[in-house]
Amino acid sequence: MTIATLPIEDAPRFQKDNRGFATRAVQTGSPHDPITGAVITPISLSTTFAQTSVGNPVGLYEYSRSSNPNRDNFEHAVAALENANYALAFSSGSATTATILQSLATGSHVISISDVYGGTHRYFTKVAAAHGIRVTFTGAIEVDARAMIEKNTKLIWIETPSNPTLSLVDIQSVADVAHEHGIMVVVDNTFLSPYVQNPLDHGADIVIHSVTKYINGHSDVLMGVAAYNSPELNDTLTFLQNAIGAVPSPFDCWLAHRGLKTLHLRAKAANENASAIAQFLESSPHVISVNYPGLNSHPQRKVALKQHRKAMGGGMISFRIRGGIRAAERFCKETRIFTLAESLGGVESLCEVPASMTHAGIPIAAREKSGVFDDLIRLSVGIEDVDDLVDDISGAIARVIDSLMLEEATA
Ligand SMILES: *Cc1c(COP(=O)(O)O)cnc(C)c1O
Repeated sequence: MTIATLPIEDAPRFQKDNRGFATRAVQTGSPHDPITGAVITPISLSTTFAQTSVGNPVGLYEYSRSSNPNRDNFEHAVAALENANYALAFSSGSATTATILQSLATGSHVISISDVYGGTHRYFTKVAAAHGIRVTFTGAIEVDARAMIEKNTKLIWIETPSNPTLSLVDIQSVADVAHEHGIMVVVDNTFLSPYVQNPLDHGADIVIHSVTKYINGHSDVLMGVAAYNSPELNDTLTFLQNAIGAVPSPFDCWLAHRGLKTLHLRAKAANENASAIAQFLESSPHVISVNYPGLNSHPQRKVALKQHRKAMGGGMISFRIRGGIRAAERFCKETRIFTLAESLGGVESLCEVPASMTHAGIPIAAREKSGVFDDLIRLSVGIEDVDDLVDDISGAIARVIDSLMLEEATA
């Protein structure tokens, strides 16, 4: 008599984990080494694994592109934090996007948002287009999605909050329309991290991250990840992960996993600092407007109340400074703690001017239509002491105003 069990491939790869977020972050995917007892899993650098007879590997592994222990552990931890049965890691956020787009047949149509991440926009319009995928964009996805759906629409790809204007999308409302037509919804959750938002709980089919940002959190690893619940999707994406081979190294998986274990502490601290800074900026006479989902003045604050943990606003802020592009560029030179640099989500605070840096490739009319004015400054708020950060910003603003006034007086 045989015992009736599910064939192994029908069981989800990772079981759902009901413990609290912090417990999952620290514990999931972190087994003690069974031989040495090492509390921290060693970095497994071997690219190949011994077999006892042909086709019978000693353990779970054969070749490191297909799978390796550090990647497995990291994927398990991310699945736990995104409430997913499956997760796959890639060599960058961009490689994650590319692999998902590769799963679509030629002739497929995708709907996305106008202010989608620049690298994603570039992949959609310059790379996916070359293998016959067409992407159309809208600035108001909740309103337009239904009318934009075509016979071959396969994906709706959104980001919430968007970059750099931090506008929010109601994921469930988009998913409801998409699912009526059998369309999958992908949410790029990079800007909030799984601590603040879990898109799968709001109807998304796939959540992706640039791990480079909050999940690793220390600005020293480039990596990406996708998490989801569908076993069919898992067959396709696991095949593509191995076939395309845009996989992260065991060392990067180990580092990113180390970063992930403190995500809740870092995200909480960045959120508290950003809230204080956003309030300070909103009260400053030298600031035209502040975009921060944690402020009651945010136009989609209701979505934050529904979708974000404790209605948090996250660690990203953008604001328009008075004095135009000159003031914005000078501000980023005048800060002493905030470093002028692209990227985000690390423990250290960064600032940049999107119109001149991350979003310089977008024509000015399209840029301004989505709120990216020349005087817009984007802050990635780190986890330094809040008083020092507020002082840094108020000092930089004061020095910018002084220098502009001096120039006017001597002109
Ligand atoms: C950085 C980023 C990406 C791309 O990730 P890489 O790891 O740089 O390839 C995708 N989406 C968002 C929102 C990002 O911020």
